[in-house]
Amino acid sequence: MIPRLKFSRRKRCPVCFFHILVFAASRKPGVAGNAATFNVFLKVNDTGNSVSLQIKYYGVRGSLPVSGKGYDEFGGNTTCCFIKLGDTHIVIDAGTGIRLLGLDLMKSELPKLGGEIHLLFTHTHWDHIQGFPFFIPAFLPNVHLHIYGETKTVPGLDDTDEEWSIERTLKMQQHFMYFPVGTKYMSSNKTFHKITPQSKLTLGGVKISCFALHHPNSTLAYRLEANGKSFVFATDVEHNDAMLENLSLFAKDADVLAYDCQYTTAEYEASKVGWGHSTYESAIEICKRGGVKNLHMIHHDPLHTDPTLLAMEADAKKLFPKAHMVRESFEYTL
Ligand SMILES: [Zn+2]
Ligand SMILES: [Zn+2]
Repeated sequence: MIPRLKFSRRKRCPVCFFHILVFAASRKPGVAGNAATFNVFLKVNDTGNSVSLQIKYYGVRGSLPVSGKGYDEFGGNTTCCFIKLGDTHIVIDAGTGIRLLGLDLMKSELPKLGGEIHLLFTHTHWDHIQGFPFFIPAFLPNVHLHIYGETKTVPGLDDTDEEWSIERTLKMQQHFMYFPVGTKYMSSNKTFHKITPQSKLTLGGVKISCFALHHPNSTLAYRLEANGKSFVFATDVEHNDAMLENLSLFAKDADVLAYDCQYTTAEYEASKVGWGHSTYESAIEICKRGGVKNLHMIHHDPLHTDPTLLAMEADAKKLFPKAHMVRESFEYTL
């Protein structure tokens, strides 16, 4: 049974944007699980070939969103990456960039046909979850949203251990004290999947494996493989000898490694050791050891404006010509 919207026609949400949207969706309930044919990439680079893995970065900023002068080229939204293989739609992380993905999907056939979306979380720091309440497809009753994340045991406010699943974490983010619209008002059909660093998933034609990264409260890296192509997404990771070696094995021979390049080595060594992030020099080391073909540098520091990121990109290319500092909205087809 598809959950129905609980807003009435007269009840106005304090965030009227949601009110209008949810109401419109509730008038035309569809059937959960219909295959959708999204048009997100058709304008730009859809080859019509469903064996291609299509990747689009909707947010590449780390730590918190930024805007203003100096952020035009690389953008200010936090982590969200969309991967499409035919009718299989995978999203990694729900930073503020997921709002833009939702707007794109709403221009596709999704609202009419419904469909499945797989949302994988690397971890639940703010910059990876805070766009979720603004992801419009999550309000569509004919969308089946599969949500994947780890369950963590962490100290509570009184230092007693608490268990936090991905479901609990997302619900608490939308507690009425923080946000006016709770997850119970998001009318999509939601299934929560508990995963671990050992998990193996098959989503449509995409095989996914996981790997634990060194970061406060730890992070999951994902390796996506389809039709002989492979894409590794590894953000929020601090390098050390073991991490460099193990990640180069996890990313072995990948076509693309998307990696946390938040700091220059000089910045890292000056004051960022232990902050949970890495450098492009470490990324390049992983690529060289693992035979990775292309490096996508992501999780840009909020203090790094366009000139700084362009300079870092130029320096990285001297060491590894296939290094690319990812701009928001960058698309790549494998
Ligand atoms: Zn982050
Ligand atoms: Zn983090």
